[in-house]
Amino acid sequence: MSVKQRGPKNPAPQEWRSENLSQGYIADYKPFNFVDGEGVRCSLYVSGCLFACPGCYNRVAQNFRYGRPYTRELEDQIIADLGQSYVQGLTLLGGEPFLNTKTCLSLVNRIRATYGATKDIWAWTGYTWEELMQESADKRELLAKIDILVDGRFMQAQMDLTLQFRGSANQRIIDVAKSLATQKPVIWAKLVH
Ligand code: SF4
Repeated sequence: MSVKQRGPKNPAPQEWRSENLSQGYIADYKPFNFVDGEGVRCSLYVSGCLFACPGCYNRVAQNFRYGRPYTRELEDQIIADLGQSYVQGLTLLGGEPFLNTKTCLSLVNRIRATYGATKDIWAWTGYTWEELMQESADKRELLAKIDILVDGRFMQAQMDLTLQFRGSANQRIIDVAKSLATQKPVIWAKLVH
């Protein structure tokens, strides 16, 4: 008899709170990469995620204590790296950025204070857009300060390696400003596949 594959977890609105869960740890920081969104990017992988998607691409980073603490020194380094003219922006991944809002907001606020809108910010999340609309103020604040959101759990049954910047067909690349203005998810205009 085959064992039925269980899917990712589905939290109730506001059930998972960053202030209760985040340990302020990061799994990795990768400056000057070409894979985590459009253009040359600096990517911060925060630690901790509860979605537990089967087939998760970064399982070790589901642990909130994986890696090392996020520090002011690292933030200084990221801000300096973003200052390179060829860097298009920052990418937040995990783990789950929206369960590490204090870390992400500290960095995002500093990027906006330093560079305004000249650097763009992408974030990957296991939450769907519709779920984030029902979430706590810290998650909504982070959402409002990023440009592009890749949303939704990784669903193994919908895995497709040909998709741009996402692993399964349920995930969407969302233009945050347009979506907030129209109150519904608007897909990134440059989506090819
Ligand atoms: S949401 Fe992302 S980091 Fe979290 S378990 Fe799913 S694939 Fe892994």
